[in-house]
Parts: sequence; structure tokens; C-alpha cells
Amino acid sequence: MPDNANFLRLEGLQVHFPIQGGLFDRVLGRPPRAVRAVDGIDLNIRRGEIVALVGESGSGKTTVGRAITKLAQPTSGRLLFEDEDMSSVRGSSALRPYRHRVQMIFQDAYQALNPRHTVFEIVAEPLRSLQLVEGGKQLADRVSEALAAAGLNPPGDFFSRFPHELSGGQRQRVVIAGALAVKPKLIVADEPVSMLDVSIRAQILQVLVDLRAKHNMALLFITHDLPLAWLIADRIAVLYLGKLVEIGSADEITFNPHHPYTVALRNATPQIRSDASRVGLPALQGEVPSAARVPKGCRFHPRCPVAFHRCKEEEPPAIEVAANHTAACWLAT
Ligand code: SF4
Repeated sequence: MPDNANFLRLEGLQVHFPIQGGLFDRVLGRPPRAVRAVDGIDLNIRRGEIVALVGESGSGKTTVGRAITKLAQPTSGRLLFEDEDMSSVRGSSALRPYRHRVQMIFQDAYQALNPRHTVFEIVAEPLRSLQLVEGGKQLADRVSEALAAAGLNPPGDFFSRFPHELSGGQRQRVVIAGALAVKPKLIVADEPVSMLDVSIRAQILQVLVDLRAKHNMALLFITHDLPLAWLIADRIAVLYLGKLVEIGSADEITFNPHHPYTVALRNATPQIRSDASRVGLPALQGEVPSAARVPKGCRFHPRCPVAFHRCKEEEPPAIEVAANHTAACWLAT
């Protein structure tokens, strides 16, 4: 039995997308370029742990989720699950056992659900494709169980309904039920509540937290919302331009951030900015730089006294700033 620390491990994971060069690039012999969506991250998730991956849109957090669920192929680095190296495993039949253990919940439930399929067919589909059930009775039981766990009760009332007949919250619950039906050990949830009303958000978050309590299921919760991450996660990892810049317990990252990007994320949040002046840095400003032309240092370097002398030459390593809390910034020392 693999130990908890080695449940899921990413080692130097990179996902780059090549950019088609133009005529001038070819004439001038410029080297091929790539969008460095994920640029060498190390992360581990323990069994039954909830880790939130936080960053602005364009930071690469969805690509990390897609790489973990094998919907995007890593350019380099390793993805280990229960000590098994999954980095180069490809093809639906080779990936079948992995898909049984790792599932993804997508942000847009309406897009994720086939409008021509009933709720029963949608939730039954992964059970059938992964060949996890024998016979109709077992299939109906597993679909009922998953719908009930996702909070759709009584489950039978939803079997023959179509996605357009459901509310936004119910649609997201169907997406969760589809992931739960196969009884995975890890769920990657990509902004699962960002399109829902505040009142429904709390209920969906509760479903996810209950799953951990009942089944010791691990969760990678992808979000741009730091307070939401603090609410649900044990640890928070902050992603900036494809790199992990800070990681630590949810309390440490929210109330004792060290990387200027985390500080800016925090200060951009009305709920937790009341004592932001103590930190003395402004909230986020301007656009996220392009991942196709990643600048050295972070975009706070104009205010950073060491950026041009050090960060430009040498990428900061993860520096331990407190117990189990690291920040990749020379100023963190
Ligand atoms: Fe940003 Fe680097 Fe300066 Fe830290 S040392 S504030 S990471 S530019």
C-alpha cells in the first residue's frame, strides 16, 4: 500500500503548447516558440486531502488539472499516482484503470452534459465505458447511489430528466454524480461552483467536503477565489504563469502570504483585505503576462528592489518561510 505522501505526485511537470511560427520567423530562422502553460511544477496530494490550486485565469491551473486527468499530455516531468508513473501512459484502454481512480468535474455543467441524454444515461456512461457494472440492476443501483451522494433526492425522480429541465445547481450535481459513480480516489474539480448562485455554492461545496469525510477521497480544487480556497482546502498552492510560487496550509497562505503575487491576490479580495494595509502592497493590477513570452521574475518587479539584480538571472527556489510553507521569491527570506 503506497504511503499517503505518495498518493499523487507531480515532479517538474511541464505542459507546453507549440506556437505555429509565421513566415518572418521562418525566414529569420527564429527558434520555435511555445505557450508555457505549466512550467515545471512539483506538487503532492495526500490521500483524503483537499488541495486548492489558486491563480488568475491564464495562470495554467486548468492545464494542471487536465494533465493530472490525462486530458493533456505533459511535455516533460513525471506524474505519479500511488507510486505508478502515469506520465507516458496513453490510449483509452491503457488509461482505463487510471480513469477509474481519477475523475474530473468541469466548470460549465451545461457544456459538460450531453443535452440529448437523460440524467440516467449521463451518470451511467462512465460506468459502462469503464466496464464497472454487470447487468441493469447493478447499473441502476450505482446511478442511484451517485445521484443521492451528489444531493439529488430521490434519485429516481431525476432518471428520465434532460439537462435543460434542471436548474444550474442540479446540473452541477449531475456532473458530480457522473464523477462519483465510478468511486474515484481523487477528483479534480475545475472551478466547480464559479457559475452558480452563492446559496447553491455552499451546498455543492458541502457535497464535496462530505465525500472526503465519507470516502477519504482526495480533491484538487481549482479556483481563482482565495476565500473559497481557504474555506474548503487543507492546503493552498498558488500558481503564477505556470509556476507554483507559494504553497502552505490554507490559513498560512491566506493570512500570512509571503510571495507578492499571493499578497496581491489576497488584497484583491474584499472579504479578507481589511488588514491588507499591513502588508503594504496593492491589489492585482493589469493583465496577466502572456505565457508565450514569460518575463523573468513576477510582475511586481518594478516595485521589487532585487528583481533586476537577481530574479532576472536566477529563478528563486521554494524558500521555507514557516513550517510546511514555502514561497518562491528572493524577498521571502
Ligand atoms: Fe517578484 Fe522575484 Fe522580486 Fe520576488 S524577487 S518580488 S519573485 S521579481
